[in-house]
Amino acid sequence: MSEQDRNCSGDLSSAQKPPLLWLQTILFSSTLLIALIGVPWYGMTHGFTWQGWLAFVLILGANGMSITAGYHRLWAHNAYKAHWSLKLFFALFGAAATQNSILIWASGHRRHHRHVDDIDQDPYSAKRGLWFSHIGWMLRDYPASAEDFSNARDLQRDKIVMWQHRNYLALVLFMNFAPAVFLGLITGHMLENVLLAGFLRLVVSHHSTFFINSLAHFWGRRPYTDENSARDNDILALFTYGEGYHNYHHIFQNDYRNGVRWWQYDPTKWLIKTASWIGLTWDLKKVPDFKIRRAMLDMQFKRAEQKLSEGKTGMAPQVKEFLEHEYQLFCDTLHNWNQVRQQWLESQRDTISAQTQALQQTLCEHKEQFQKTWKETSLHFQLRELEYALKLQQKRLKQLTLQMA
Ligand SMILES: [Zn+2]
Ligand SMILES: [Zn+2]
Repeated sequence: MSEQDRNCSGDLSSAQKPPLLWLQTILFSSTLLIALIGVPWYGMTHGFTWQGWLAFVLILGANGMSITAGYHRLWAHNAYKAHWSLKLFFALFGAAATQNSILIWASGHRRHHRHVDDIDQDPYSAKRGLWFSHIGWMLRDYPASAEDFSNARDLQRDKIVMWQHRNYLALVLFMNFAPAVFLGLITGHMLENVLLAGFLRLVVSHHSTFFINSLAHFWGRRPYTDENSARDNDILALFTYGEGYHNYHHIFQNDYRNGVRWWQYDPTKWLIKTASWIGLTWDLKKVPDFKIRRAMLDMQFKRAEQKLSEGKTGMAPQVKEFLEHEYQLFCDTLHNWNQVRQQWLESQRDTISAQTQALQQTLCEHKEQFQKTWKETSLHFQLRELEYALKLQQKRLKQLTLQMA
């Protein structure tokens, strides 16, 4: 492109932007406008009932948890396994959250983890700014968001995922309107329920989940890794059902927990754990505590070294010596841990092989016993057959004797 072309094209960056996706743009802006104008207007002119607010909170929670526990930790990361009834619940209320089908959402999210912060390949790269990572990436037809399920073959084999994907639009419409209309018919406050459990719930649900892609990559601390922009943020965790511990999540993405300490606010982790007590979830994946501490110590050493090299500490030689000594201890501990873990794995392997041998032996014994019983039974039948043959012969002879008499 010549200099003249560049000057004539006006705003080059907007000229290069992919086309707007009108359906998404209208959906996000109209629902936002209705929530911002319609809800306060109704509140001032009619007032809301507590039942209306209760329905709003419950459906909002079901939507949010279906995204965090279902779409995110179950399907995108395989952090645990779940009973079909729980998966069906997540598929239905996840559709109500209107963030695309599980298949599209989870495959995009796997790309986000694989290419985190890459401007071209991360669908909601934080490097493209807060607006882009929050909602901008969904408003235009960006190549990074193009459907590509090559990283989601496992999900394509999941019947509930594929059923939801095929019927997504119908499920979105039904799950967004049916609960609100149903509650409206029961309570007699149709407009209140459509506004609270319908529009306001959808808008709050949208933006609280979008915070995980936007704010959780900008605001907070990085105790586990600084290799990417993800942050841990306790305040954000309150609005995102525990997904605010995003720095931890980006380094240990298969852990079913995001808030790894018991006191960290992670209702998604509590839901998955509680469900395991009644058999609705199982195989909950957990990163060993040692690995978590190792990541934290790595970061602490890295930061201390940075400060030292920037000359920010007085007594630099003593600090350096102390740091080197601590680092040596750290390396020794890691070395010992690896050795002990190796021994532990070998011992487990031995136990398993001993158990397998014992099982094989038992099977052999059972087989021998079975063969013996089979042989005895077959001999028994042979004897009965011979006996019967004798009986027949006896009858024949008896008849012959009678004929001869
Ligand atoms: Zn992220
Ligand atoms: Zn994730």
